Amino acid sequence: MKYISTRAEPGGKALDFNEALLAGLARDGGLFLPMEWPTFTPNDINAMRGLPYAELCLKIIKPFIGEAIDDETLGDIAAKAYAGFSHKAVTPLAQLDERTFLLELFHGPTLAFKDLAMQLLGGLFDHVLKAQGRKMTIVGATSGDTGGAAIEAMRGRDAVSTFIMHPRGRVSDVQRRMMTTVDDPGVKNIAIEGNFDDCQNILKALFNDHGFRDEVGLGGVNSINWARVMAQTVYYFAAGLALGAPNRRLAFAVPTGNFGDVFAGYVAKRMGLPIERLIIGTNTNDILVRTLETGEYRPTSVVPTTSPSMDIQVSSNFERLIFEASGRDAAEVRGLMSGLSQSGGFTLKDETLAKIRSEFSGHRCDEPRVEGLIRETLAESNMLLDPHTATGLHAARAETLDADVARIVLATAHPAKFPDAVEKMSGRHPALPPQFDGLLERPEHFVVLPNDVDAVRSYILNEKGL
Ligand SMILES: *Cc1c(COP(=O)(O)O)cnc(C)c1O
Repeated sequence: MKYISTRAEPGGKALDFNEALLAGLARDGGLFLPMEWPTFTPNDINAMRGLPYAELCLKIIKPFIGEAIDDETLGDIAAKAYAGFSHKAVTPLAQLDERTFLLELFHGPTLAFKDLAMQLLGGLFDHVLKAQGRKMTIVGATSGDTGGAAIEAMRGRDAVSTFIMHPRGRVSDVQRRMMTTVDDPGVKNIAIEGNFDDCQNILKALFNDHGFRDEVGLGGVNSINWARVMAQTVYYFAAGLALGAPNRRLAFAVPTGNFGDVFAGYVAKRMGLPIERLIIGTNTNDILVRTLETGEYRPTSVVPTTSPSMDIQVSSNFERLIFEASGRDAAEVRGLMSGLSQSGGFTLKDETLAKIRSEFSGHRCDEPRVEGLIRETLAESNMLLDPHTATGLHAARAETLDADVARIVLATAHPAKFPDAVEKMSGRHPALPPQFDGLLERPEHFVVLPNDVDAVRSYILNEKGL
Protein backbone atom coordinates (compact mmCIF):
# COMPACT_ATOMS: atom_id res chain seq x y z
CA MET A 1 0.00 0.00 0.00
CA LYS A 2 1.22 3.50 -0.86
CA TYR A 3 0.52 6.69 1.10
CA ILE A 4 -0.08 10.23 -0.08
CA SER A 5 -0.34 13.56 1.72
CA THR A 6 -3.63 15.43 2.12
CA ARG A 7 -1.76 18.45 0.71
CA ALA A 8 0.14 16.68 -2.10
CA GLU A 9 1.00 18.70 -5.20
CA PRO A 10 0.07 16.93 -8.46
CA GLY A 11 2.59 14.16 -9.09
CA GLY A 12 3.70 14.24 -5.43
CA LYS A 13 5.69 11.24 -4.27
CA ALA A 14 3.87 8.31 -2.64
CA LEU A 15 5.46 6.60 0.37
CA ASP A 16 5.27 3.01 1.55
CA PHE A 17 3.95 2.13 5.01
CA ASN A 18 7.31 2.19 6.80
CA GLU A 19 8.15 5.62 5.43
CA ALA A 20 4.76 7.04 6.41
CA LEU A 21 5.13 5.46 9.88
CA LEU A 22 8.51 7.06 10.54
CA ALA A 23 7.70 10.41 8.94
CA GLY A 24 4.50 11.05 10.92
CA LEU A 25 3.69 14.37 9.25
CA ALA A 26 4.25 14.89 5.51
CA ARG A 27 6.92 17.43 4.50
CA ASP A 28 4.26 19.64 2.92
CA GLY A 29 2.53 19.86 6.32
CA GLY A 30 -0.25 17.44 5.31
CA LEU A 31 -1.30 14.12 6.84
CA PHE A 32 -0.79 10.74 5.24
CA LEU A 33 -3.61 8.58 3.93
CA PRO A 34 -3.51 5.34 1.97
CA MET A 35 -3.96 5.75 -1.79
CA GLU A 36 -7.11 3.65 -1.61
CA TRP A 37 -9.26 1.97 1.03
CA PRO A 38 -8.90 -1.79 1.31
CA THR A 39 -12.36 -3.38 1.58
CA PHE A 40 -13.79 -6.51 3.14
CA THR A 41 -16.95 -8.22 1.85
CA PRO A 42 -19.67 -9.33 4.31
CA ASN A 43 -18.27 -12.87 3.94
CA ASP A 44 -14.76 -11.68 4.82
CA ILE A 45 -16.17 -9.94 7.90
CA ASN A 46 -18.18 -13.01 8.97
CA ALA A 47 -15.01 -15.07 8.78
CA MET A 48 -13.37 -12.79 11.37
CA ARG A 49 -15.91 -13.62 14.08
CA GLY A 50 -14.40 -15.15 17.20
CA LEU A 51 -10.79 -14.26 16.44
CA PRO A 52 -8.70 -13.20 19.45
CA TYR A 53 -8.05 -9.44 19.36
CA ALA A 54 -4.41 -9.67 18.20
CA GLU A 55 -5.38 -11.96 15.31
CA LEU A 56 -8.22 -9.69 14.30
CA CYS A 57 -5.73 -6.83 14.39
CA LEU A 58 -3.45 -8.65 11.96
CA LYS A 59 -6.35 -9.21 9.51
CA ILE A 60 -7.47 -5.58 9.61
CA ILE A 61 -4.08 -3.86 9.40
CA LYS A 62 -2.34 -6.20 6.98
CA PRO A 63 -3.79 -4.56 3.82
CA PHE A 64 -2.48 -1.18 5.02
CA ILE A 65 1.02 -2.53 5.49
CA GLY A 66 1.26 -4.79 2.47
CA GLU A 67 4.72 -6.19 1.86
CA ALA A 68 6.46 -3.67 4.15
CA ILE A 69 6.39 -6.13 7.10
CA ASP A 70 5.96 -9.90 6.79
CA ASP A 71 2.95 -11.64 8.38
CA GLU A 72 4.90 -13.53 11.02
CA THR A 73 6.67 -10.42 12.32
CA LEU A 74 3.45 -8.41 12.24
CA GLY A 75 1.54 -11.15 14.08
CA ASP A 76 4.25 -11.14 16.73
CA ILE A 77 4.13 -7.37 17.15
CA ALA A 78 0.34 -7.47 17.52
CA ALA A 79 0.45 -10.34 20.03
CA LYS A 80 3.00 -8.50 22.20
CA ALA A 81 1.06 -5.23 21.96
CA TYR A 82 -2.11 -6.65 23.50
CA ALA A 83 -0.66 -9.25 25.87
CA GLY A 84 -0.41 -6.70 28.70
CA PHE A 85 -4.08 -5.70 28.71
CA SER A 86 -5.92 -6.57 31.90
CA HIS A 87 -9.04 -7.94 30.14
CA LYS A 88 -8.90 -11.09 27.97
CA ALA A 89 -11.18 -9.53 25.35
CA VAL A 90 -8.86 -6.45 25.23
CA THR A 91 -11.86 -4.21 24.35
CA PRO A 92 -14.93 -5.76 26.06
CA LEU A 93 -18.47 -4.46 25.63
CA ALA A 94 -20.81 -3.64 28.52
CA GLN A 95 -24.53 -3.20 27.94
CA LEU A 96 -26.22 -0.03 29.25
CA ASP A 97 -29.76 -0.50 27.93
CA GLU A 98 -31.55 -2.50 25.17
CA ARG A 99 -29.65 -0.79 22.38
CA THR A 100 -26.73 1.05 23.99
CA PHE A 101 -23.34 -0.49 24.67
CA LEU A 102 -20.10 0.80 26.14
CA LEU A 103 -16.93 -0.27 24.35
CA GLU A 104 -14.36 -0.34 27.15
CA LEU A 105 -11.09 0.91 25.75
CA PHE A 106 -9.37 1.47 29.10
CA HIS A 107 -7.89 -1.91 30.02
CA GLY A 108 -4.38 -1.08 28.81
CA PRO A 109 -1.33 -0.07 30.86
CA THR A 110 -2.29 3.64 31.19
CA LEU A 111 -6.08 3.20 31.44
CA ALA A 112 -7.10 5.12 28.30
CA PHE A 113 -7.80 4.17 24.69
CA LYS A 114 -4.49 5.67 23.56
CA ASP A 115 -2.82 2.41 24.70
CA LEU A 116 -4.58 0.42 21.97
CA ALA A 117 -2.70 2.25 19.21
CA MET A 118 0.43 3.20 21.10
CA GLN A 119 1.34 -0.33 22.19
CA LEU A 120 1.23 -1.43 18.57
CA LEU A 121 3.15 1.67 17.44
CA GLY A 122 5.95 0.93 19.93
CA GLY A 123 6.48 -2.51 18.38
CA LEU A 124 6.24 -1.18 14.82
CA PHE A 125 8.79 1.59 15.43
CA ASP A 126 11.16 -0.80 17.14
CA HIS A 127 10.99 -3.30 14.29
CA VAL A 128 11.33 -0.82 11.44
CA LEU A 129 14.13 1.20 13.07
CA LYS A 130 16.15 -1.91 13.90
CA ALA A 131 15.67 -3.28 10.39
CA GLN A 132 16.98 0.00 8.97
CA GLY A 133 19.72 0.47 11.60
CA ARG A 134 18.31 3.87 12.56
CA LYS A 135 17.52 5.75 15.74
CA MET A 136 14.78 8.23 16.28
CA THR A 137 13.78 11.13 18.52
CA ILE A 138 10.08 10.98 19.24
CA VAL A 139 8.45 14.25 20.19
CA GLY A 140 4.80 14.29 21.23
CA ALA A 141 2.23 16.72 22.57
CA THR A 142 -0.38 15.46 24.99
CA SER A 143 -3.68 16.74 26.30
CA GLY A 144 -3.24 14.14 29.02
CA ASP A 145 -3.45 10.55 27.82
CA THR A 146 -1.25 10.30 24.72
CA GLY A 147 1.86 11.14 26.75
CA GLY A 148 1.52 8.38 29.31
CA ALA A 149 0.59 5.83 26.67
CA ALA A 150 3.57 6.84 24.48
CA ILE A 151 6.02 6.73 27.37
CA GLU A 152 4.73 3.32 28.44
CA ALA A 153 5.05 2.01 24.86
CA MET A 154 8.48 3.52 24.11
CA ARG A 155 10.39 3.24 27.42
CA GLY A 156 13.34 0.89 27.40
CA ARG A 157 13.49 0.69 23.59
CA ASP A 158 17.09 1.43 22.47
CA ALA A 159 16.19 2.83 19.09
CA VAL A 160 14.13 5.77 20.40
CA SER A 161 14.36 8.64 22.84
CA THR A 162 11.05 10.24 23.78
CA PHE A 163 10.11 13.85 24.61
CA ILE A 164 6.55 14.60 25.68
CA MET A 165 5.08 18.09 26.10
CA HIS A 166 2.00 18.57 28.28
CA PRO A 167 0.18 21.81 29.09
CA ARG A 168 1.33 22.77 32.60
CA GLY A 169 -1.41 22.40 35.21
CA ARG A 170 -4.03 21.34 32.68
CA VAL A 171 -3.85 17.57 32.99
CA SER A 172 -5.09 15.55 35.97
CA ASP A 173 -2.60 14.54 38.71
CA VAL A 174 -2.96 10.88 37.77
CA GLN A 175 -2.37 11.66 34.08
CA ARG A 176 0.72 13.73 34.89
CA ARG A 177 2.16 11.20 37.30
CA MET A 178 1.78 8.33 34.82
CA MET A 179 4.27 10.32 32.69
CA THR A 180 6.53 12.03 35.20
CA THR A 181 7.16 9.14 37.61
CA VAL A 182 8.75 7.07 34.84
CA ASP A 183 12.48 7.11 35.57
CA ASP A 184 14.14 6.25 32.27
CA PRO A 185 17.07 8.07 30.64
CA GLY A 186 15.32 7.83 27.27
CA VAL A 187 12.17 9.65 28.46
CA LYS A 188 11.86 13.42 29.05
CA ASN A 189 8.74 15.29 30.14
CA ILE A 190 8.26 18.97 29.32
CA ALA A 191 5.53 21.04 31.00
CA ILE A 192 4.71 23.91 28.64
CA GLU A 193 3.41 27.21 30.00
CA GLY A 194 0.35 27.12 27.74
CA ASN A 195 -2.58 24.94 26.65
CA PHE A 196 -2.69 21.82 24.49
CA ASP A 197 -3.09 23.75 21.24
CA ASP A 198 0.14 25.61 22.11
CA CYS A 199 1.92 22.26 22.61
CA GLN A 200 0.54 20.99 19.31
CA ASN A 201 1.65 24.18 17.51
CA ILE A 202 5.20 23.78 18.84
CA LEU A 203 5.15 20.19 17.65
CA LYS A 204 4.02 21.15 14.15
CA ALA A 205 6.66 23.90 14.00
CA LEU A 206 9.37 21.36 14.91
CA PHE A 207 8.15 19.02 12.17
CA ASN A 208 8.16 21.89 9.67
CA ASP A 209 11.78 22.76 10.55
CA HIS A 210 13.33 20.30 8.09
CA GLY A 211 16.90 20.92 9.28
CA PHE A 212 16.00 20.03 12.87
CA ARG A 213 13.83 17.19 11.68
CA ASP A 214 16.69 15.52 9.84
CA GLU A 215 19.30 16.29 12.50
CA VAL A 216 17.46 14.53 15.33
CA GLY A 217 15.60 11.93 13.25
CA LEU A 218 12.26 13.33 14.37
CA GLY A 219 9.30 10.98 14.67
CA GLY A 220 5.75 11.58 15.86
CA VAL A 221 3.31 9.60 17.97
CA ASN A 222 0.39 12.01 17.88
CA SER A 223 -2.69 10.93 15.99
CA ILE A 224 -1.32 12.79 13.00
CA ASN A 225 0.65 9.53 12.63
CA TRP A 226 -1.36 7.34 10.28
CA ALA A 227 -0.41 4.12 12.10
CA ARG A 228 -2.36 5.24 15.16
CA VAL A 229 -5.54 5.74 13.20
CA MET A 230 -4.98 2.39 11.49
CA ALA A 231 -4.58 0.58 14.83
CA GLN A 232 -7.80 2.13 16.12
CA THR A 233 -9.94 0.76 13.29
CA VAL A 234 -9.50 -2.70 14.83
CA TYR A 235 -11.76 -2.14 17.84
CA TYR A 236 -14.56 -0.83 15.64
CA PHE A 237 -14.52 -4.21 13.91
CA ALA A 238 -14.19 -6.07 17.23
CA ALA A 239 -17.28 -4.32 18.62
CA GLY A 240 -19.24 -4.68 15.38
CA LEU A 241 -18.52 -8.41 15.14
CA ALA A 242 -19.49 -8.98 18.76
CA LEU A 243 -22.86 -7.31 18.12
CA GLY A 244 -23.69 -9.19 14.93
CA ALA A 245 -22.09 -7.24 12.07
CA PRO A 246 -22.08 -7.50 9.09
CA ASN A 247 -25.77 -8.36 9.65
CA ARG A 248 -26.46 -5.61 12.14
CA ARG A 249 -26.33 -1.88 11.61
CA LEU A 250 -24.15 0.10 13.98
CA ALA A 251 -23.71 3.67 15.19
CA PHE A 252 -20.66 4.76 17.15
CA ALA A 253 -20.62 7.73 19.51
CA VAL A 254 -17.08 8.94 20.04
CA PRO A 255 -15.76 11.47 22.58
CA THR A 256 -13.68 13.63 20.28
CA GLY A 257 -10.78 16.08 20.47
CA ASN A 258 -8.20 15.72 17.73
CA PHE A 259 -10.61 13.67 15.55
CA GLY A 260 -8.27 10.65 15.36
CA ASP A 261 -10.51 8.14 17.07
CA VAL A 262 -13.72 8.98 15.21
CA PHE A 263 -11.78 9.12 11.92
CA ALA A 264 -10.73 5.51 12.60
CA GLY A 265 -14.46 4.72 12.68
CA TYR A 266 -14.82 6.38 9.30
CA VAL A 267 -12.01 4.16 7.98
CA ALA A 268 -13.75 1.05 9.35
CA LYS A 269 -16.86 2.13 7.46
CA ARG A 270 -14.92 2.61 4.21
CA MET A 271 -13.52 -0.90 4.73
CA GLY A 272 -17.00 -2.42 4.83
CA LEU A 273 -18.27 -2.31 8.41
CA PRO A 274 -22.00 -1.39 8.29
CA ILE A 275 -21.82 1.89 10.17
CA GLU A 276 -25.02 3.90 9.91
CA ARG A 277 -23.75 7.01 11.74
CA LEU A 278 -20.58 8.35 13.28
CA ILE A 279 -21.57 10.59 16.18
CA ILE A 280 -19.07 13.14 17.44
CA GLY A 281 -19.28 13.98 21.13
CA THR A 282 -17.54 17.15 22.32
CA ASN A 283 -17.38 18.98 25.63
CA THR A 284 -17.84 22.76 25.70
CA ASN A 285 -14.83 23.03 23.35
CA ASP A 286 -17.16 22.40 20.46
CA ILE A 287 -15.38 23.47 17.29
CA LEU A 288 -16.44 20.28 15.50
CA VAL A 289 -20.10 20.63 16.41
CA ARG A 290 -20.04 24.27 15.28
CA THR A 291 -18.36 23.29 12.01
CA LEU A 292 -21.04 20.68 11.32
CA GLU A 293 -23.75 23.24 12.08
CA THR A 294 -22.38 26.17 10.09
CA GLY A 295 -19.64 24.92 7.75
CA GLU A 296 -17.25 27.39 9.32
CA TYR A 297 -14.16 26.00 11.08
CA ARG A 298 -12.90 28.69 13.41
CA PRO A 299 -10.92 27.84 16.57
CA THR A 300 -11.72 30.00 19.60
CA SER A 301 -10.01 29.93 22.98
CA VAL A 302 -9.87 26.67 24.93
CA VAL A 303 -12.00 26.36 28.06
CA PRO A 304 -10.78 23.90 30.72
CA THR A 305 -13.36 21.17 31.50
CA THR A 306 -13.55 17.92 33.47
CA SER A 307 -12.63 16.08 30.24
CA PRO A 308 -9.16 17.62 29.67
CA SER A 309 -8.15 15.20 26.90
CA MET A 310 -10.80 16.88 24.74
CA ASP A 311 -9.91 20.48 25.64
CA ILE A 312 -8.82 21.14 22.08
CA GLN A 313 -9.78 23.69 19.45
CA VAL A 314 -7.51 22.69 16.59
CA SER A 315 -8.66 19.25 15.56
CA SER A 316 -5.80 18.04 13.39
CA ASN A 317 -7.29 14.89 11.92
CA PHE A 318 -10.30 16.80 10.58
CA GLU A 319 -7.99 17.58 7.66
CA ARG A 320 -8.11 13.91 6.71
CA LEU A 321 -11.91 14.04 6.58
CA ILE A 322 -11.91 17.22 4.49
CA PHE A 323 -9.58 15.51 2.00
CA GLU A 324 -11.98 12.58 1.77
CA ALA A 325 -15.18 14.61 1.66
CA SER A 326 -13.81 16.88 -1.06
CA GLY A 327 -13.24 13.84 -3.29
CA ARG A 328 -9.54 13.76 -2.32
CA ASP A 329 -8.93 17.25 -3.60
CA ALA A 330 -5.51 18.21 -2.16
CA ALA A 331 -5.74 21.68 -3.73
CA GLU A 332 -8.94 22.34 -1.78
CA VAL A 333 -7.25 21.16 1.44
CA ARG A 334 -4.20 23.38 0.79
CA GLY A 335 -6.46 26.38 0.28
CA LEU A 336 -8.43 25.80 3.48
CA MET A 337 -5.33 25.16 5.57
CA SER A 338 -3.64 28.32 4.39
CA GLY A 339 -6.84 30.16 5.31
CA LEU A 340 -6.54 28.66 8.79
CA SER A 341 -2.96 29.81 9.27
CA GLN A 342 -3.46 33.24 7.64
CA SER A 343 -6.91 34.28 8.80
CA GLY A 344 -7.63 31.92 11.67
CA GLY A 345 -10.40 29.89 10.05
CA PHE A 346 -12.06 28.65 6.87
CA THR A 347 -15.46 27.83 5.45
CA LEU A 348 -16.14 24.45 3.85
CA LYS A 349 -17.63 24.26 0.37
CA ASP A 350 -21.33 23.35 0.40
CA GLU A 351 -20.75 19.97 -1.28
CA THR A 352 -17.95 19.07 1.15
CA LEU A 353 -20.12 19.98 4.14
CA ALA A 354 -23.07 18.02 2.75
CA LYS A 355 -20.88 14.95 2.32
CA ILE A 356 -19.62 15.21 5.91
CA ARG A 357 -23.16 15.69 7.26
CA SER A 358 -24.32 12.59 5.39
CA GLU A 359 -22.09 10.42 7.61
CA PHE A 360 -21.38 12.40 10.79
CA SER A 361 -23.47 14.09 13.46
CA GLY A 362 -22.19 16.01 16.45
CA HIS A 363 -23.47 16.93 19.90
CA ARG A 364 -21.96 19.16 22.57
CA CYS A 365 -22.16 18.14 26.22
CA ASP A 366 -21.93 20.87 28.87
CA GLU A 367 -20.58 20.28 32.38
CA PRO A 368 -23.93 19.92 34.22
CA ARG A 369 -24.96 17.25 31.70
CA VAL A 370 -21.64 15.37 32.23
CA GLU A 371 -22.42 15.30 35.95
CA GLY A 372 -26.05 14.31 35.36
CA LEU A 373 -25.07 11.37 33.15
CA ILE A 374 -22.39 10.12 35.52
CA ARG A 375 -24.89 10.16 38.43
CA GLU A 376 -27.68 8.62 36.39
CA THR A 377 -25.51 5.78 35.01
CA LEU A 378 -24.21 4.97 38.47
CA ALA A 379 -27.75 4.84 39.88
CA GLU A 380 -29.25 2.85 37.00
CA SER A 381 -26.43 0.51 35.97
CA ASN A 382 -23.95 0.69 38.85
CA MET A 383 -21.25 1.76 36.40
CA LEU A 384 -18.97 4.72 36.96
CA LEU A 385 -18.24 6.65 33.75
CA ASP A 386 -15.27 8.94 33.25
CA PRO A 387 -16.18 12.48 32.06
CA HIS A 388 -14.97 11.86 28.47
CA THR A 389 -17.14 8.78 28.16
CA ALA A 390 -20.09 10.79 29.52
CA THR A 391 -19.80 13.22 26.60
CA GLY A 392 -19.95 10.22 24.27
CA LEU A 393 -23.04 8.87 26.00
CA HIS A 394 -24.69 12.28 25.72
CA ALA A 395 -24.01 12.29 21.97
CA ALA A 396 -25.42 8.76 21.59
CA ARG A 397 -28.61 9.68 23.45
CA ALA A 398 -29.04 12.95 21.54
CA GLU A 399 -29.01 11.20 18.16
CA THR A 400 -32.17 9.92 16.45
CA LEU A 401 -31.63 6.44 15.01
CA ASP A 402 -33.76 3.51 13.87
CA ALA A 403 -34.55 1.09 16.69
CA ASP A 404 -32.53 -1.80 15.25
CA VAL A 405 -29.27 0.16 15.11
CA ALA A 406 -26.85 -0.77 17.91
CA ARG A 407 -25.48 2.36 19.62
CA ILE A 408 -21.91 1.89 20.77
CA VAL A 409 -20.34 4.52 23.01
CA LEU A 410 -16.55 4.49 23.13
CA ALA A 411 -15.51 4.47 26.80
CA THR A 412 -12.18 6.17 26.28
CA ALA A 413 -10.78 6.34 29.81
CA HIS A 414 -11.04 4.67 33.21
CA PRO A 415 -12.76 6.91 35.80
CA ALA A 416 -9.78 6.52 38.15
CA LYS A 417 -7.72 8.70 35.81
CA PHE A 418 -9.94 11.61 36.88
CA PRO A 419 -10.64 10.73 40.52
CA ASP A 420 -11.33 14.23 41.85
CA ALA A 421 -13.77 15.24 39.13
CA VAL A 422 -15.57 11.88 39.22
CA GLU A 423 -15.86 11.81 43.00
CA LYS A 424 -17.15 15.37 43.10
CA MET A 425 -19.81 14.57 40.52
CA SER A 426 -20.86 11.10 41.68
CA GLY A 427 -20.02 10.95 45.37
CA ARG A 428 -18.03 7.79 44.71
CA HIS A 429 -14.23 7.61 44.66
CA PRO A 430 -12.97 5.59 41.69
CA ALA A 431 -10.04 3.49 42.91
CA LEU A 432 -6.93 3.01 40.77
CA PRO A 433 -6.25 -0.64 39.93
CA PRO A 434 -3.60 -2.21 42.21
CA GLN A 435 -0.76 -1.98 39.67
CA PHE A 436 -0.72 1.78 40.33
CA ASP A 437 -0.07 1.50 44.08
CA GLY A 438 2.47 4.15 45.04
CA LEU A 439 1.87 6.30 41.94
CA LEU A 440 0.92 9.30 44.05
CA GLU A 441 4.08 9.14 46.16
CA ARG A 442 6.82 8.46 43.61
CA PRO A 443 9.19 11.33 42.67
CA GLU A 444 8.39 13.22 39.45
CA HIS A 445 10.77 14.11 36.60
CA PHE A 446 9.96 17.05 34.31
CA VAL A 447 11.15 20.48 33.20
CA VAL A 448 9.00 23.58 32.76
CA LEU A 449 9.54 25.51 29.50
CA PRO A 450 7.86 28.63 28.09
CA ASN A 451 5.40 28.44 25.20
CA ASP A 452 8.21 28.96 22.72
CA VAL A 453 9.46 26.74 19.88
CA ASP A 454 13.09 27.86 20.24
CA ALA A 455 13.19 26.90 23.92
CA VAL A 456 11.83 23.44 23.17
CA ARG A 457 14.12 22.93 20.18
CA SER A 458 17.26 23.82 22.22
CA TYR A 459 16.18 21.57 25.06
CA ILE A 460 15.73 18.60 22.71
CA LEU A 461 19.07 19.23 20.97
CA ASN A 462 20.82 19.29 24.38
CA GLU A 463 19.10 16.26 25.82
CA LYS A 464 18.48 13.89 22.97
CA GLY A 465 21.54 11.82 23.84
CA LEU A 466 21.56 9.73 20.66
C1 LIG B 1 -7.46 11.52 23.43
C2 LIG B 1 -8.74 11.31 24.12
C3 LIG B 1 -9.96 11.61 23.51
C4 LIG B 1 -10.06 12.26 22.16
O1 LIG B 1 -9.59 11.43 21.14
P1 LIG B 1 -9.20 12.04 19.70
O2 LIG B 1 -8.66 10.91 18.93
O3 LIG B 1 -8.20 13.12 19.98
O4 LIG B 1 -10.46 12.60 19.13
C5 LIG B 1 -11.13 11.28 24.18
N1 LIG B 1 -11.09 10.72 25.41
C6 LIG B 1 -9.94 10.43 26.04
C7 LIG B 1 -9.98 9.83 27.39
C8 LIG B 1 -8.71 10.71 25.42
O5 LIG B 1 -7.56 10.41 26.04
